[in-house]
Amino acid sequence: MGAPLTKALYLVDSYMKEAEANVVSVKDGKYVVLDQTVFYPNGGGQPYDKGKIVRAGEDFGVVYVGKFSGEISHEVDHAGLQEGEKVHLILDWDRRYKLMRSHTAAHVVASLLNQGTGALITGNQLDLDHIRFDFNLESFDRQVLEEYLCKANRLFGTDVPVKWYELPREEAMKIPGVIKMAGAFPPDLPSLRIVEIAGVDKQADGGTHVKNLREVGQVVLLKTENKGKSNRRIYFKLN
Ligand SMILES: [Zn+2]
Repeated sequence: MGAPLTKALYLVDSYMKEAEANVVSVKDGKYVVLDQTVFYPNGGGQPYDKGKIVRAGEDFGVVYVGKFSGEISHEVDHAGLQEGEKVHLILDWDRRYKLMRSHTAAHVVASLLNQGTGALITGNQLDLDHIRFDFNLESFDRQVLEEYLCKANRLFGTDVPVKWYELPREEAMKIPGVIKMAGAFPPDLPSLRIVEIAGVDKQADGGTHVKNLREVGQVVLLKTENKGKSNRRIYFKLN
C-alpha cells in the first residue's frame, strides 16, 4: 500500500477548525476524497466529525466520514463536487470539541482504573452524551468507581498538559502500557502516534485530544453494568 492520499491535519493540530483542500476523487457523486482534511473519520472509539465542504458559496453537508482501504472518505448530503475542485472545509466544532474533551477524559479514567485495579479496558466508545468503557475486573463496586471518577475530576481541575507526537515503533513499544486496549495491536507502521498526558498516561492513539486537562471540565458517573463473570461496563459523561 502506498502513502495515503489524504493529509490528516487533525492528527497534527486537533484545534484546526477550517482548511482549504482539493478534491482528489468523487465516487457515486457523494463520497469525496480530499488531499487534506480536518475531518476525523469514525474509528478507535471516537465518532466521525460533521461539518461542511464549501465550494464557491455552495455548502455540501458532511454527514459521515470513514476510512475505507486506508483512505478517508467524506460522505456529503448531495452530489455535485468534482475532482480537481478547490474547496473550503468547516468543522462542526461544538461536536468535535466535546468529543476531544471526552476522549481525553476517557484516557485519564482508564489509566487511573488500570493503575489502581489492574483492570484492562476491553472496549470503549465515545458518544456525544456519554462515554462507555468495558473492562475486566472480578470485584465490582459502584462506590469504588465513584472514587476513581473523583480522582479524575481532581486532575481535570489542574493544569496538566497533553501532548501528541510520533515515535519510531521500536522506541514506542518500550513504553510500559503503551497499548492500553486488551488485545489491541498497533498497526504495522514504522512509527506510532503517542498521546501523553503528563504524569498520568502515555499510549498509542490516533484520536483527537485537548491540550490541557483543565479543558475537560468534570465528569459524572451515569451507570454501571455487569456483563458477565468479570466483564464490567461503565457509562459516564461530561458535566
Ligand atoms: Zn484514545
